[in-house]
Amino acid sequence: MAVTSHASIKSRDGVSTLADRWPLLGQRRPLVVYLCAIVALDLAAIMMFAASTVFYWRDALTFGALMGCGAVCIEATRRLGVPAGVSRDLLSAWWLPVALLLPPVYALFAPIVLQILLQVRVRATVLYRRVFSSAAIGLAGCTASFLFHRFVDDPWVLSRGTGPPILFVVAAAVLFSLLNIGLIAIAAHMEDPETAWRDLLWNRESVLLDIVELCLGVTVSIGCGLNLGWLVLALPPVVLLQRSLLHAQLQAAARTDAKTGLLNAAAWQREADTEIVRARRNGDSLALLIIDIDHFKRVNDAHGHLVGDQVLVGVASMLRGQLREYDVVGRFGGEEFVVLLPGTDIDEARLVAERLRIRIGRMAIPVDDTLVRVTISAGVALLNVHGDDLIDLLTAADLALYRAKELGRDRICIPAVQPSSSSPPDGRPLPSDG
Ligand code: GH3
Ligand code: MG
Ligand code: MG
Repeated sequence: MAVTSHASIKSRDGVSTLADRWPLLGQRRPLVVYLCAIVALDLAAIMMFAASTVFYWRDALTFGALMGCGAVCIEATRRLGVPAGVSRDLLSAWWLPVALLLPPVYALFAPIVLQILLQVRVRATVLYRRVFSSAAIGLAGCTASFLFHRFVDDPWVLSRGTGPPILFVVAAAVLFSLLNIGLIAIAAHMEDPETAWRDLLWNRESVLLDIVELCLGVTVSIGCGLNLGWLVLALPPVVLLQRSLLHAQLQAAARTDAKTGLLNAAAWQREADTEIVRARRNGDSLALLIIDIDHFKRVNDAHGHLVGDQVLVGVASMLRGQLREYDVVGRFGGEEFVVLLPGTDIDEARLVAERLRIRIGRMAIPVDDTLVRVTISAGVALLNVHGDDLIDLLTAADLALYRAKELGRDRICIPAVQPSSSSPPDGRPLPSDG
């Protein structure tokens, strides 16, 4: 179950607990141990490499210039306004050259500087997350830097453009990205063990961004080796890329329900409309489900809204996990979800809805010493049978949902009009097999 918020263990009577003041303590024990271990490793690496690094003004100047560029990028983003949940940036363009051109200790310091700036200037988020990010990026950069310097004596030869050092640079940059992704994915998996590793490690958009960051980092490293002044030329395109990335993320955020990550009601309606028009044009079948959590108010009343939110996240991820890639899933509002199933007839829709009902009914969300369980009711409607457009389908499915509630909840209903003789009788609930 998703434990994205530390506040789940906040005392119900409003009295501030230790975990309120130290959100890290509210996390799962393995996660706390892992985060502390990574931070401790980072501190140990800082001490070890600091003691063995010879200080050169040229290195310090390069470090300062790259951090200055990072700071400009952060300022440029800040001015656009960064809402919570928008997290990707292109800062590797600056800390990758630090790792490649300078001794490993600088790679440990670079993320600390930029994360402090992000915390102070962009968004004051939970502190342990910033500390962990700094440590994870620092360790990834330090490892890449250490190995790169073992193979390439003088990294500044990069700018001569000869083959082998460039290949080592690319290898080190890939290692940096993989380590960074791996360290963060482990933490994310410990925070929410139900998230599939594949989802944490593989996301097409995210991999594309990693490749762009890697290319930028390598290009900036080579330019830096030529002349530090080259950074003045590199900075504007990186800032522009960073701003367009932010713009794309804002657009995605505007379509998404922040709590569950599903489509929000407006975006779902737009996509559902498009699917319905396509299905009508092609003569395809299409089904619509409205799903409502039963007695959800009781969950809030008994365990608090934050646990209620965890239930919503759990139900949402179960829906997403059980449905096909091209099924359109949205949060309609409150504890109500909508699903559009293209190419699905009434029998298939019934099976899908039943499967969802059973799976969600079996879900258990751990809260303190107990497990919270919920059931759902759903109404099903079929294109050309219960309605010809979105409004008609929603109305029909909503009526069926109302009927399911009336009949005692934890069941699926379809509206009165029957598409074929094989379907259940008018308005009757489907037989429950769970
Ligand atoms: P029923 O079985 O008839 O659907 O009963 P219910 O309690 O689920 O429905 P009702 O409409 O009475 O209550 C819905 C509750 O959902 C009330 C509201 O506070 C809660 N709710 C709506 N949105 C959220 C949310 O984002 N988070 C949490 N935790 N609760 C929410
Ligand atoms: Mg409800
Ligand atoms: Mg409701």
